[in-house]
Amino acid sequence: MDDCIFCKIIAGELPTKKVSEGDGWVAFRDIAPKAPEHVLIVPKEHIRSLGEAQDTHKDMLGRLMLATREVAETLGIRDAYQVKVFSGENAGQTVFHLHLHLTGGWKEKQSDN
Ligand code: AMP
Ligand code: ZN
Repeated sequence: MDDCIFCKIIAGELPTKKVSEGDGWVAFRDIAPKAPEHVLIVPKEHIRSLGEAQDTHKDMLGRLMLATREVAETLGIRDAYQVKVFSGENAGQTVFHLHLHLTGGWKEKQSDN
C-alpha cells in the first residue's frame, strides 16, 4: 500500500529498530514505547485491521500469534507479556496496517489495562 508507513518499513523505505522476522511477519520496536519493552508484530501482507480479516487470513493470524512467543523469547520476557490489538479508529487504532502490540519487561504485577 502506497501510503502505509508499516508497508514502507517492511519495504526498507523507512528506518526502524527491527527485532526479528519470520514467516510472513516482521517485529520492530514501537517508536513511542508504552512499556519497558514494546514491539509491534506486523504481517508483511497489508491488511487494514483485525476487523477486516477474512478466513483466508487464518494462517497468517496463527503465525502472528505464535510469533509473540518467539519475539518474547528474543526480548527475554517469555515469562510475562501482553498482546494487544486495536481494531478501528474509536478503539484507538492509528496505523491502518494490522499489528500486534507486544509489551512486557515490568518489574511488578500488572493490573487490567
Ligand atoms: P495503533 O494505535 O494500534 O494503531 O498503534 C500504532 C503504533 O505504531 C503506535 O504505538 C505508534 O507509537 C507506533 N508507530 C507509529 N509510527 C511508527 C514508526 N514509524 N515506527 C514504529 N512504530 C510506530
Ligand atoms: Zn501496509
